[in-house]
Amino acid sequence: MDALLLVGLTVLALVLPWLIPRWRLRRALARALPASAVAVLERQIPPYRNMGPDLQAQLRRLVAQFLHQKKFIGCEGLVVDDDMAITIAGQACLLLLNRPSKVYPALHTILVYPTAFVARRDEVGPGGVVTPGRQSMLGESWDDGRVVLSWDDVQRGAADWTDGQNVVLHEFAHQLDSESGRANGAPYLGHHARYRDWSEVLARDFHALRWQAMYRQRSVIDPYGATSPAEFFAVATETFFEKPWQMAEHHTELYGEFCKYYRVDPRAWQAPPPAPPAHAPDAPDAPHLAWPARW
Ligand SMILES: [Zn+2]
Repeated sequence: MDALLLVGLTVLALVLPWLIPRWRLRRALARALPASAVAVLERQIPPYRNMGPDLQAQLRRLVAQFLHQKKFIGCEGLVVDDDMAITIAGQACLLLLNRPSKVYPALHTILVYPTAFVARRDEVGPGGVVTPGRQSMLGESWDDGRVVLSWDDVQRGAADWTDGQNVVLHEFAHQLDSESGRANGAPYLGHHARYRDWSEVLARDFHALRWQAMYRQRSVIDPYGATSPAEFFAVATETFFEKPWQMAEHHTELYGEFCKYYRVDPRAWQAPPPAPPAHAPDAPDAPHLAWPARW
């Protein structure tokens, strides 16, 4: 009898740490997101207003899970209130609609600075000599489960949903990219056959962007995406959700690959932009020559 009791207690000790978080999550998801939280989504996430009821319900559920599982830490005296957390969670979870992935399983903490923050950035010179350096940043994504954001820039991203600049979409695209092992512009795509088309299309448009950036030509995708394949994926994600019509016109195959990956077509949430003036044909956008620091 004592042996049976001991076995039972051992099994319970092994199973409870696995069961309790799931029970707590189920209980959290059973409660509807409060009306005040939905009002924040409507105010801060413009695509939410134009989604159908099914996608809106999906986003609310994803946001509820995000808020339940992730920890927000304010830095340099910033207090992260509910509205701020919902704004960040709502934008981050846009990337997860219709997808079978979990809610950023490797991520546990979002650090929020009031404004752009200074981070250490070592530079490797000729011969591998490392020079310590510091750089002003809008956001960072780390493989160890942290995302760092500047609240000023989160707000800027929410205020203008048509400029292709959104630090939350950028950093959480890096988180998705990391799920495949390392951030290299090739997130987990499922079937291995998908990688061939993905790498062919992304490599072609990445190299085209490098040329455009080198010669200061206009581009729909911000030239910061020319710094590496991982940055290209993150910056193209910003473009996909904020300038879907322009991206579909100027990067048709890339837009198609992103529609397949993200399983949404953001053109459904945004009116087409006005046609450019007749004297400026084929002019997607003014170039952003000052590259913001987002990693
Ligand atoms: Zn980046």
